[in-house]
Amino acid sequence: KYHNELVELKGNIRVFCRVRPNIREDGSGQQAQSVVSYDQDDDGLLFINNKGGRLQTFEMDKVFTEDSTQTEVFDEVKALVTCCVDGYNVCIFAYGQTGSGKTYTMEGPSEDPGINQRGLMELFRETADRALEWQYDITVSVMEIYNEMIRDLLSSDPSYKMEVKMSPEGGLYVPGLTTIRVQSVEDINETFALGHRNRATACTNMNEHSSRSHALLCVNVIGRNKTTGAKTVGKLNLVDLAGSERVNKSGADGARLKEAQNINKSLSSLGDVIQSLRNKQAHVPYRNSKLTYLLQDSLGGDSKTLMIVQVAPVEKNVNETLSSLSFAQRVR
Ligand code: ADP
Ligand code: MG
Repeated sequence: KYHNELVELKGNIRVFCRVRPNIREDGSGQQAQSVVSYDQDDDGLLFINNKGGRLQTFEMDKVFTEDSTQTEVFDEVKALVTCCVDGYNVCIFAYGQTGSGKTYTMEGPSEDPGINQRGLMELFRETADRALEWQYDITVSVMEIYNEMIRDLLSSDPSYKMEVKMSPEGGLYVPGLTTIRVQSVEDINETFALGHRNRATACTNMNEHSSRSHALLCVNVIGRNKTTGAKTVGKLNLVDLAGSERVNKSGADGARLKEAQNINKSLSSLGDVIQSLRNKQAHVPYRNSKLTYLLQDSLGGDSKTLMIVQVAPVEKNVNETLSSLSFAQRVR
């Protein structure tokens, strides 16, 4: 068995925090004061200087500071990613307000990619290492969930029409979903580019749109043992969640309000699901949102979940930061 012992030791649900660098947002020159500080000895602690001038402590499984690199983040995630080569299902979520670095962590800039590309590359490496005994197929799908509707971003018709069905064996699937086999970094980049083009279709402001929808990269890893014929099926779901910021309801028009309610609903359902798995409750409310329903067979059982809570370190975001960190504490 190749399964990584470290992963086993750390349990099935983990919560990391990553603090975005304190970038100058408006070019005014003056860098805003950071409200975040760390513990010298304990890399799981994070302190927030809240508005009352009080330090509030949050405990995570691991905190990545402003200075953490994409490589450092991926090093902590690597063992989890390769679990799916052993037939485990894994979910990695980036949670946080718009502008907190979710997309940077998952996608990243092309010259310094994030977990999505590094994860697939690691799967290529890991499966190549086992090529004497095993033959693997790695396929990907790219989806978006917006307003509780799903669209297939690798399809020639990326409209919101995909359904989630339960197979007779109890697994969840999306009938007709496009899957593309990937074997190289070129394959990955082409697939991501197609997903991006389709996501931008018919949308006037991509930034706004992406902050209101969840982006999912779903990887299937199917292995067959060359001598015994034994089969393994593992899934890696990489999710860049919609922005967690609260919408000021008084100013929102009907459509915007509905969007906001749907985002709230799916983020809080995700929190509820993880919390009830953590507390080993008999009933897990997967059905309360499209996201949790779709990911049902990758959340719970012996699946592994990582929540990366992103925060912006500046004072004006402190309320959203506190709210994201309380979400983190709720699921941890
Ligand atoms: P979100 O997806 O949560 O809305 P982004 O990932 O788009 O946030 O990040 C907001 C801005 O901050 C982007 O310009 C991004 O490049 C930058 N940024 C975020 N995290 C980092 C980081 N760790 N290092 C450098 N720049 C970052
Ligand atoms: Mg984003």
